[in-house]
Amino acid sequence: MNRDDLLQRLDEHSTPWDVLIIGGGATGLGVAIDSAARGYRTVLLEQHDFAKGTSSRSTKLVHGGVRYLKQGNLSLVLEALRERGRLLENAPHLVHDLRFVVPNYDWWEGPFYGVGLKVYDLLAGRAGFGPSEHLSREETLAYLPTLEPEGLRGGTLYYDGQFDDARLAITMAQTAVDLGATVLNYMPVTALTKTGDIVNGVVVHDVEAGREYTLDARVVINATGIFTDNIRRMDDPEASRMIQPSQGVHLVLDQAFLPGDTAIMVPRTDDGRVLFAIPWLDRVLIGTTDTPVEHASLEPRPLPEELDFLMTHAARYLTKDPTPSDVLSAFAGVRPLVSADPEGDTASISRDHTLHIDRSGLVTITGGKWTTYRKMAEDTIDQAAIIAQLDERPSPTATLHLHGWHNDPDALGDLAAYGADAPALTTLLGEEPGWNEHLHPKLPYRKGEVVWAVRREMARTLEDVLARRTRALLLDARASIEIAPIVAALIAGQLGRDAAWEQDQVAAYRALAAGYVLA
Ligand SMILES: Cc1cc2nc3c(=O)[nH]c(=O)nc-3n(C[C@H](O)[C@H](O)[C@H](O)COP(=O)(O)OP(=O)(O)OC[C@H]3O[C@@H](n4cnc5c(N)ncnc54)[C@H](O)[C@@H]3O)c2cc1C
Repeated sequence: MNRDDLLQRLDEHSTPWDVLIIGGGATGLGVAIDSAARGYRTVLLEQHDFAKGTSSRSTKLVHGGVRYLKQGNLSLVLEALRERGRLLENAPHLVHDLRFVVPNYDWWEGPFYGVGLKVYDLLAGRAGFGPSEHLSREETLAYLPTLEPEGLRGGTLYYDGQFDDARLAITMAQTAVDLGATVLNYMPVTALTKTGDIVNGVVVHDVEAGREYTLDARVVINATGIFTDNIRRMDDPEASRMIQPSQGVHLVLDQAFLPGDTAIMVPRTDDGRVLFAIPWLDRVLIGTTDTPVEHASLEPRPLPEELDFLMTHAARYLTKDPTPSDVLSAFAGVRPLVSADPEGDTASISRDHTLHIDRSGLVTITGGKWTTYRKMAEDTIDQAAIIAQLDERPSPTATLHLHGWHNDPDALGDLAAYGADAPALTTLLGEEPGWNEHLHPKLPYRKGEVVWAVRREMARTLEDVLARRTRALLLDARASIEIAPIVAALIAGQLGRDAAWEQDQVAAYRALAAGYVLA
């Protein structure tokens, strides 16, 4: 995946693109795969880096949504469970099953959650990840030795899926390119073009070269998450508001706070929220919150009350109380919730996806969740193909293996996430002295992975490498700041950048990463 080669295709393409997608998060990348897999000529434009927005800031669960059971939304749960199973089949190097325990402190919780999770098992059917089970107090503490024991009666065990969101996004970009799509980062769309009232393309700016392109397309798809309304207003300045953004924050703690490989799920905290404590990449993720926000931002910041809620509740459910200096990273993401009623409460508005077609033919796909990206994409291209008058072709993505698919990723050791690319990466790590060395004792990444990210995964900046190709920013923000100069030098060597570029990158990254550190 080479940006310069892909960029060149924009000039070589003299006829309109079949499908043009704005936005390179889970939704847009999924749509690009579906479109290219059907053989349509596809281009995707992302204003920053792939998954810079919400798609790198999730709870990292591929799940049916246990909490939607509570709302009785069985069709949403059923669809998500089906997609969960497909994702495990199609990307086994990036998705795995995870054991969860709902701790029971009240007498009614055991039977209540036990029955609910049996329904979850039944809905999953053959796509189930493992049966739910009632646990005694002793069994619960054996799985979760650092769970608060006071008042504990027992637990309910169930299974769901876990993944690395930004790595999956990069893998999806590679998959789209493998299928013939042109996907480009650092390309903000600044305007829509029209023939009469019908949208027939976009104006896009290449941030790196400072050049502008006008691209024609038979259909334009708006997959811009929380920025959905900005694009709709490029079409119609009077367009009503579709998105009610809602922020969610996570804390990352050392594994010692929750050793082992079992997650805690609290379906209802004393103020009625859902809370997870999840082992992830040898750390613990604590989250999340649900705070309505007014403005869409690519770099949202946790609010003091959100941090306070997470710290207090982590202390309540874990034997060891975290302090601000224990927090390795604190990150915020914003859900693109679709509001039927813009004034309404975000907890009750739809988490299902919405496919909207404007009179101009602009297709907007938004809402939903990471887990259901494939189904969202299939629905979108079914409609887009009609608008663009393309040959009708069925979506093959339900069984399409993603880039790097491997039948036994566990055999690949600590390079498992690269799947079938792991042997090529191993060769690269031996290419230059030092490339096989770790960047930092607290981080699992090697120097050669930086080179790989630039050469094979379209990383363009220090932040691309530290936040999304590796997850250094989330695993340990302070350690990531320490390695910034050496990583910048490695990137500069690959991209032919000078010392001033390196310094600017390090300064920009330090400023960004400082926002992920609490003390
Ligand atoms: C706190 C939190 C936890 C979550 N946890 C889970 C979970 O565990 N499991 C799950 O399944 N889902 C989860 N979700 C939901 C999931 O993360 C989102 O539904 C999904 O990432 C949305 O993807 P998207 O592509 O629609 O949006 P985004 O990822 O935000 O992508 C939109 C992209 O459009 C780009 N863009 C905007 N304007 C332009 C322009 N003018 N030109 C070019 N590009 C543009 C942006 O830069 C951005 O990259 C969670 C969400 C949050 C906030």
